Amino acid sequence: MKKKSLAGLIEVLMRCPAAPYFEDLPMKAVAQICQRNAMKVQKDQFGNLLIGAANPSAIRMLMVAHLDHPGFRVLSKEGKGVFKAEFLGGVPSEYFKKGTSLRLFPGNEPAALGRKIDGQHLQFEIKTLRKVESASFAVWDLPPFKLKREIIKGRACDDLVGAASALAVLIEIKGQPAAKHTSVLLTRAEEVGFGGTLAAGKAGKITKEALVVSLETSRELPPVKMGKGVILRVGDRASIFDPRASRFFHELALGLADKKKNFQYQRALMSGGTCEGTAWQEYGYTVAALCVALGNYHNCGRNEEIRPEFVDLSDVKNMVSLLSEGAKSLADKLSSPTLLHARLEKLASEATPQLLNRVP
Ligand SMILES: [Zn+2]
Repeated sequence: MKKKSLAGLIEVLMRCPAAPYFEDLPMKAVAQICQRNAMKVQKDQFGNLLIGAANPSAIRMLMVAHLDHPGFRVLSKEGKGVFKAEFLGGVPSEYFKKGTSLRLFPGNEPAALGRKIDGQHLQFEIKTLRKVESASFAVWDLPPFKLKREIIKGRACDDLVGAASALAVLIEIKGQPAAKHTSVLLTRAEEVGFGGTLAAGKAGKITKEALVVSLETSRELPPVKMGKGVILRVGDRASIFDPRASRFFHELALGLADKKKNFQYQRALMSGGTCEGTAWQEYGYTVAALCVALGNYHNCGRNEEIRPEFVDLSDVKNMVSLLSEGAKSLADKLSSPTLLHARLEKLASEATPQLLNRVP
């Protein structure tokens, strides 16, 4: 997929505000994208979206990304223009400054963060600037999307960039044999402990034959660098992912780096957070993870200020290329062990006679 089309897809999703449990707007946008591209969307009982392969038992690669982003859930109306809300998601308490601009939904109403009601549960008053009868969630009032010099900046790169990448892969492989074996699961309420993903993993409706690939934007931490390519995430804060699966992507990345001059990749343990891969692995799935480096993780900028997140579009493009290769390779049954195993076997058969020839 061309960079421009990929950026367009990301923009459509990033213009959709969401909070944990309130993913209606990005879900609607996803449904439209799928309709336009003649891709089948199914909603599971938990509200997660499954897109792609018509026959779930044929899935060989399942890309998982989440649609929510840290935000406020409105609990009650406290009085004229005042709502009580709790913040859902990982943002340190020092970022909650009275007067910070918010947007209340539905209605996209301008509002501001009021006093703290309960620090332990991050409960606050939200004050509206206009008359608002009811509200269900609120987000930081930040520009939703900007693209400048290859940098995508906006309220929620995490994880709408992952979701858009997964959809881009499905669009890219459309009509190819791999399309029959590749699906995307877009989950809900990830920011509050993997709600949607745990429910789906536990339900076990996805075949265990599928390689689950967790897609994320992940806090930029050494040794990875933004703009230096897609990150083969060998693990997260809680887990190490399947060695054969990460080797599988590593082999493909080496091949792509040879073939394409703009393809770059990095390989690292991204311990800044736990990703959905850990949840799937706990339910017995084979898991790999890819991510791109994220700036201003969860909108936490310098000087304890709420700022837009940002990613590098080239990194995202690399992620889409690698996933497309993965989908094709898995559909052709070029699975991970075969690739490296064959090479090791060859090396062993070359080395053995020489070792035997001269045993000290
Ligand atoms: Zn995330």
